[in-house]
Amino acid sequence: MVLIKTTKSGQKVEVENGWLYLDGKKLSSRVEKIDAWTKQQLDKKYPGNDYEYRADKLIMNAEEGLKSKGLVDAYNAKVKGEQAAKDQAEFDALVASGEAFRTAEITEQYGCDLMWARRFSEEEKAQYSDWFRDRGVCSLPVGGRVKVESKAVRQVVDGRSADAEFCGCSNMAWTITETEWNEIVRLSEMIRAEKEEAKKEYKKAEAASLQRKIDTGYCFSCESWCHGDCGNYSNDPTVSFARELKLSLAEMNYGIKE
Ligand SMILES: [Zn+2]
Repeated sequence: MVLIKTTKSGQKVEVENGWLYLDGKKLSSRVEKIDAWTKQQLDKKYPGNDYEYRADKLIMNAEEGLKSKGLVDAYNAKVKGEQAAKDQAEFDALVASGEAFRTAEITEQYGCDLMWARRFSEEEKAQYSDWFRDRGVCSLPVGGRVKVESKAVRQVVDGRSADAEFCGCSNMAWTITETEWNEIVRLSEMIRAEKEEAKKEYKKAEAASLQRKIDTGYCFSCESWCHGDCGNYSNDPTVSFARELKLSLAEMNYGIKE
């Protein structure tokens, strides 16, 4: 325990293993700057105060706040570093024993990813139903994870049925080789570039169609080639956008649209 301060009422504020303690009781694992609104309220109530940080309801000055925050942050960084080293060691061992493999996952909700995975251990298998024991896989936090296009995955696995499944969300996964991984990445980049190009073409075509209307005397007021018969002739496209907006607002007011 590192003592941060003793409050006016004699309570001890201490930090240990990423937590602030108040008289030996866990208080909070978060030290943050007091938000502007709260600071304003405090200034009204305690003019000339030097409060800057808080941990739950405990208010601290800059020195106390920075000291606690520094200790909490250092602890968290240490834990994170230890976890990363442990993950890396586990990964290296699994790669060396041939138990780690590359996968391509297609999910319903979260898109597609390439990542490393492993099968369940015997103890883990016991927690799952029969059909999932040999099909289920766990992702490994090391080795890299890449967002890819589902079309690229399907093209590379080419009709091969999914031979893996991650726990949790609705998904299908395939074990893939390094060559297949690289090919999926390459194809995904191509597909994205094509999508970008198609978007640009679409915008260009839209603009061209609008210009054609303007050039041929289209009336944006009545939305036809009325040649002025409607009495409100306008060659300004924003007129119809404004009407659409007005209509949309009217529908909202009448509760037609949400
Ligand atoms: Zn018209």
